[in-house]
Amino acid sequence: MSLWGGIEAGGTKFVCAIGVGPDELRAETSFPTTTPQETIGRAIAFFQEHRQTEPLAAVGIASFGPVDPDPRSATFGYITTTPKPHWAQVDFAGQIRAALDVPVGFDSDVNGAALGEFRWGAAQGLDTFVYLTVGTGLGGGGMVNGRLIHGLMHPEMGHMRLPHDWAADPYAGYCSYHGDCWEGLACGPAIEARWQARADQLAPEHPCWALEARYLALGLVNIICTLSPQRIIMGGGVMKQVHLFPLIRREVQRLLNGYIQEEAILQRIDDYIVPPGLGSRAGVLGAMALGEEALAA
Ligand code: ADP
Ligand code: ZN
Repeated sequence: MSLWGGIEAGGTKFVCAIGVGPDELRAETSFPTTTPQETIGRAIAFFQEHRQTEPLAAVGIASFGPVDPDPRSATFGYITTTPKPHWAQVDFAGQIRAALDVPVGFDSDVNGAALGEFRWGAAQGLDTFVYLTVGTGLGGGGMVNGRLIHGLMHPEMGHMRLPHDWAADPYAGYCSYHGDCWEGLACGPAIEARWQARADQLAPEHPCWALEARYLALGLVNIICTLSPQRIIMGGGVMKQVHLFPLIRREVQRLLNGYIQEEAILQRIDDYIVPPGLGSRAGVLGAMALGEEALAA
């Protein structure tokens, strides 16, 4: 049997896995993101070691970015303009292909996770949905009409602009480009800077969560109104606060104010805004699925 490799490349850590799906993983490893040379080198060494027992057919990469996911572009497979030191203009997919000599699939971290959820998780059977992560950053990807969303590059949903009530929330925002864009207001580090506390140590009753749910719901309403998703999947460290889900769902209903007359929103919103079916493995499994797609392409 031929295996697919997956690399979930995050700004703080890499996760690599090899197998053919969630129930048939041969090996998995994770290590911190340091320099490109060292980190990509460790990923290559992991696949070299495991391909000795079973052949490796393809590798997929779901990467932090911005990235270039357009196969027709000269910089396809690159991490492009990231502010992360050493990682701008790095030919990530090219280095993996050169070392392992297999087809390489490449996309943003959240488009990768969306594909994983489509294959094995909470988006099975859907053709238009969104996957969001709320963690160190805030990012969104997904599918429209059965295809991962690309276009100009890939969605950067986290950088949409939202109303910011400065009287209620004087915090200026965390984004180095925009200050109070969606990510700037609602990512984990924004919660921590605003309240001067670790997000995982703020009690469910703390007012931070009502404000967080409001910001998350404002962004979701914009996404619902632009993409018409059949479901929205929300993962990432901040969403480990599961009490956020009911707060977000009620706020989305309140903000939409009955305008979208769909059962999914009016009656079945618990099944409309959901955690990932694959939990925290959506990214690495999605990367494997990107590898499988590269093989088929
Ligand atoms: P990354 O975005 O690097 O992939 P995470 O999605 O785990 O990683 O996000 C990490 C951030 O999420 C942390 O900086 C912290 O602000 C927040 N976070 C992590 N765990 C929790 C938790 N249990 N509750 C609330 N916030 C959390
Ligand atoms: Zn921004």
